[in-house]
Amino acid sequence: MTERVLVLNAGSSSLKYRLLDGSTGAAEASGSVERIGESNGKLTHAVGGEDHTEERPIADFEDALRSALDAFDTHGPALDPGSLAAVGHRVVHGGDLFAEPVVVDDRLLETVEDLVPLAPLHNPANLEGLRVAMQLFPGVPQVAVFDTAFHQTMPEHAYTYAIPRAWREEHRIRRYGFHGTSYAFVSRRAAELLGRPLEDTNLVVLHLGNGASAAAVRGGRSIDTSMGLTPLEGLVMGTRSGDLDPAVHGHLHRELGWSLEEIDRALYRESGLLGLSGVNDFRELSERRAAGDAAASLAFDVYAYRVRKYVGAYYAALGELHAVVFTGGVGQHSPELRAAALDGLFRLGIVLDSSRNEARSSEARFVSAEGSAVAALVVPTDEEWEIARQALEVVRGS
Ligand code: AMP
Repeated sequence: MTERVLVLNAGSSSLKYRLLDGSTGAAEASGSVERIGESNGKLTHAVGGEDHTEERPIADFEDALRSALDAFDTHGPALDPGSLAAVGHRVVHGGDLFAEPVVVDDRLLETVEDLVPLAPLHNPANLEGLRVAMQLFPGVPQVAVFDTAFHQTMPEHAYTYAIPRAWREEHRIRRYGFHGTSYAFVSRRAAELLGRPLEDTNLVVLHLGNGASAAAVRGGRSIDTSMGLTPLEGLVMGTRSGDLDPAVHGHLHRELGWSLEEIDRALYRESGLLGLSGVNDFRELSERRAAGDAAASLAFDVYAYRVRKYVGAYYAALGELHAVVFTGGVGQHSPELRAAALDGLFRLGIVLDSSRNEARSSEARFVSAEGSAVAALVVPTDEEWEIARQALEVVRGS
């Protein structure tokens, strides 16, 4: 049976794809279509170490996926639908309905549609991706892999907000959590690195990318995570505020007369590192901080302090901890951030090794000192491989 899986990740105005072997993770080709629906669309198709780019307006998701298929035709490798075991789709919000990936059918599409109010920015794009792929690859199983699924193991006391019953029961307002495919991949890989069975491994995993979240993982299962009903709660992010007094909404509304849409926009797109320092890219922030920019320095400190608080909170939630694991663009590539987040935690048994921490590598590795009771690890995430792996598992099982 073929192990080839095409993974699709449809965002609000972009489509990322990767064709890979779901059992080894080896990528045959990957690419992205950006600025869908705008006049300056761009397709990039990477194969055999070369990038092929094309700039032209791309009308919608159907146009985007057809353009990607054209790129496979022109630049290779050949993408005969018959050679695909599955198409794996990242779907952001599965509510409390999906703890596992599922093969997509018309009923599933309706269910994802019902969940749109919980993820108005993401689920409509994911749905569009699913519909178009079903049309273009008839007969190939389409598998939806939900970002929220990994966290469905959280105990009730961790996912329940202290709000009236009707909000919780009728409106499904609770903590859901995101970045689930990343946590699944990274937790397994971290246990391998530690040489421990996953079932007997307790981790605090820090997924620090443009979006950022933390999770407490016991025995491969999420017991808490920092994102909530939406991906706004928790850590400081590129442009999102993370944790905030909920009364800020009312305050802004009363004092400035802002609408809810304006407030939402400011908290999602104009806050976080951007709001604090004027830049949302962590690398640029680090450069400005090194050059003595006070706002960049404060933004770094707020970011690192928030990460550190969650490490402490999730250590307490787990009781016993085997490793703190860093992943995502910032987690993988910023030794300064790792050092600031874990500085002085030796009483908690966490001791970094500065030369290991500063060494550049793209491999999963230890950055803690010999003899640190709790390990610190860097584990590059690979969400596409995880989606492909899960999609294959579903297809094999069905
Ligand atoms: P991701 O969403 O996982 O791709 O992560 C993107 C974030 O990682 C951006 O804020 C990047 O600036 C940051 N990043 C990538 N490379 C580096 C680096 N070498 N040093 C610091 N931050 C980095």
